Amino acid sequence: MSDCLFCKIIAGDIPSQKVYEDADMLAFKDIRPSAPVHILLIPKKHIASLQDLSSDDAALMGKLMLAVPKIAYDNGLSNGFKTQINTGVGGGQEVFHLHIHIMGRPS
Ligand code: AMP
Ligand code: ZN
Repeated sequence: MSDCLFCKIIAGDIPSQKVYEDADMLAFKDIRPSAPVHILLIPKKHIASLQDLSSDDAALMGKLMLAVPKIAYDNGLSNGFKTQINTGVGGGQEVFHLHIHIMGRPS
C-alpha cells in the first residue's frame, strides 16, 4: 500500500534498522524504543490490523508467532520478553500495518 509507512520500510524507501528478514516478514528496531530492546515484527503483506485478518492469513500469522521467540533470543532476550499488538484507534494503534512489539531487557 503506497501510503503506508511500514510498506515503505519493506520497500526500502524509508530506512530502518533491520534485525531479521525473510520472504514473509521483516523485523526492525522501533524508532522510539520503550524498552532497552524494542523490535517491531511485521508481515510483508499489508494487513492493517488484527481486525483485518482473513482465514487466508492463518499460516502467515503462525509463521510470525513462531519467529517471535527466535528474534527475541537473537537480540539478547534469552530470559523472556513482552509482546504487544495494538489494534485499532481504541487500542492505541498509530501505524495501520499489523505489527508485533517485542520488548525486553537483555539478560
Ligand atoms: P503502534 O502504536 O502499535 O501503532 O506502534 C507504532 C510504533 O511504530 C511506535 O512504537 C513507533 O515508535 C514506531 N515507529 C514509527 N515510525 C517508525 C519508523 N520509521 N521506524 C521504526 N519504528 C517506527
Ligand atoms: Zn503496509
